[in-house]
Amino acid sequence: MRLLVVEDDKDINRQLVTALEHAGYAVDKAFDGEDGHFLGDTEPYDAVVLDIGLPKKDGVTVLEEWRKAGRTMPVLILTARDRWSDKVQGFDAGADDYVAKPFHMEEVLARLRALLRRATGHATNELTCGPIVLDTKASRVVVDGNAVKLTSHEYRLLAYLMHHVGRVVSRTELVEHLYDQDFDRDSNTIEVFVGRLRKKLGVDMIQTIRGLGYLMADPAADAGAAPKPAR
Ligand code: CA
Repeated sequence: MRLLVVEDDKDINRQLVTALEHAGYAVDKAFDGEDGHFLGDTEPYDAVVLDIGLPKKDGVTVLEEWRKAGRTMPVLILTARDRWSDKVQGFDAGADDYVAKPFHMEEVLARLRALLRRATGHATNELTCGPIVLDTKASRVVVDGNAVKLTSHEYRLLAYLMHHVGRVVSRTELVEHLYDQDFDRDSNTIEVFVGRLRKKLGVDMIQTIRGLGYLMADPAADAGAAPKPAR
């Protein structure tokens, strides 16, 4: 999952980015409304943390413009504690949730997990696919009851596929959602990561769909149903 943080306070921005990276997300950052707007308009983020009080372009305007342009990613706004009007304006502009400053990082992380799982149609932090259970809160993976140790890239790859169980995910989509902007992207590495992931999981749950990408199909859900088309 790839996130964008738009926050002009350098310390808060750094704290957010560090915590989110530590939690297993790929993270891009912007320090003003113009840069933030541009990134959110051109890159496919899974969710955005957006400060309301921003230089160059305020957060409410940024959000309104994204929504007007059809950008539907979940957006968590950061508001000043005593500014109830920020929250109202933010929600009316298309925000999905808010956290008031000063905030506890655990709350931001929990709210983002909730937004990400809702956006992909899941109700809890535990995603399952056959014998594989992925806990997005603890960033842990268990296969048949045994913990599997993954690198952060392998975890990110599996988490993305498991958030989208039952849908074919293309290599391009994986590259766009697993790496931050500064990462040296090479779509060939996806195949390498998938190979390593398959080996570590020890179960054959990631299918290669020739010419289209990868599919994780949950045998418990609609067995025999045709996979949804690639997006
Ligand atoms: Ca600010």
